[in-house]
Amino acid sequence: MAQIIDGKAISAQIKEELKEEVSSLKSRGIQPGLAVIIVGSDPASRIYVNLKKKDCEELGILSKEYALPKETTEEELLGLIGELNADPSINGILVQLPVPEQIDENKIIAAISPEKDVDAFHAANVGKIMIGSYSFLPCTPAGCMELIASTGVDITGKNCVVVGRSNIVGKPMAMLLLHKHGTVTIAHSKTKNLKEVCAAADILVAAVGVPKLIKGDMIKPGAVVIDVGTTKMPDGKLCGDVDFEEASKTASFITPVPGGVGPMTRVILMKNTVTAAKLQNKVKI
Ligand code: NAP
Repeated sequence: MAQIIDGKAISAQIKEELKEEVSSLKSRGIQPGLAVIIVGSDPASRIYVNLKKKDCEELGILSKEYALPKETTEEELLGLIGELNADPSINGILVQLPVPEQIDENKIIAAISPEKDVDAFHAANVGKIMIGSYSFLPCTPAGCMELIASTGVDITGKNCVVVGRSNIVGKPMAMLLLHKHGTVTIAHSKTKNLKEVCAAADILVAAVGVPKLIKGDMIKPGAVVIDVGTTKMPDGKLCGDVDFEEASKTASFITPVPGGVGPMTRVILMKNTVTAAKLQNKVKI
């Protein structure tokens, strides 16, 4: 049976370290601050924003929420981002995605100052990740890397398969595994023989959004399995991309859903906000 990778426990430990860091920054007169913008009233987005606010409160990070109506224009949102870019009390800016259709998501991401882009979605930050010289890592892939590190499994030379090629999870995840010297394959909806591709993975990361797409017979014996997927099922429960019951019989380590990647994504956002505060205040990191 696979060992469960406890994202809650690992994130709690990182939180404790961050709490100390924030308190030490405060004693030097530096108050880390995060601005979270939400446009419209998508229930899932509201939950995520509330959780971010709670995390900030717990760690002593100043959080400012900007809840805008769903009719907000692109120009209005760009105006607010411009103000926050210039506001020294704000170190990190996060626009909760998705935004309503009248707003071009790419324009919004591009408008956030790269120094305050704690999601690491801006092209300047994406480029830095490509060349391996970065200040921020995107929250979910960075969280997955921490989870893999917690297993003690060395990525060097391992066959790593990432299922999913989104800009926010799949692609940066593959890049981070590559930086750690994995031999990386990216699979997606057009991939042929997904079963065989996955079954060759020593480290398998599923970031798809299709419940239980990855079955037990797609897992190599002893593999490390990281399940990013979160689909809300009709009963209200979250379901991952991996068939946990089946896969945990074959894998050596596996993340649960919930309680695996989710808490890590949240804590890395806090870490990035602290890093942003340090960089903007010329504190050594
Ligand atoms: P996305 O933008 O929808 O991308 C999904 C990817 O999966 C695409 O690259 C797509 O391929 C691929 N795909 C779809 N069906 C497939 C299939 N049958 N076989 C192989 N590949 C397939 O999603 P995302 O934003 O990356 O998120 C992925 C999942 O992670 C979602 O469930 C999301 O809710 C979850 N998530 C969780 C966290 C967390 O903190 N736990 C954070 C972010 C996302 P194509 O490119 O060919 O269309």
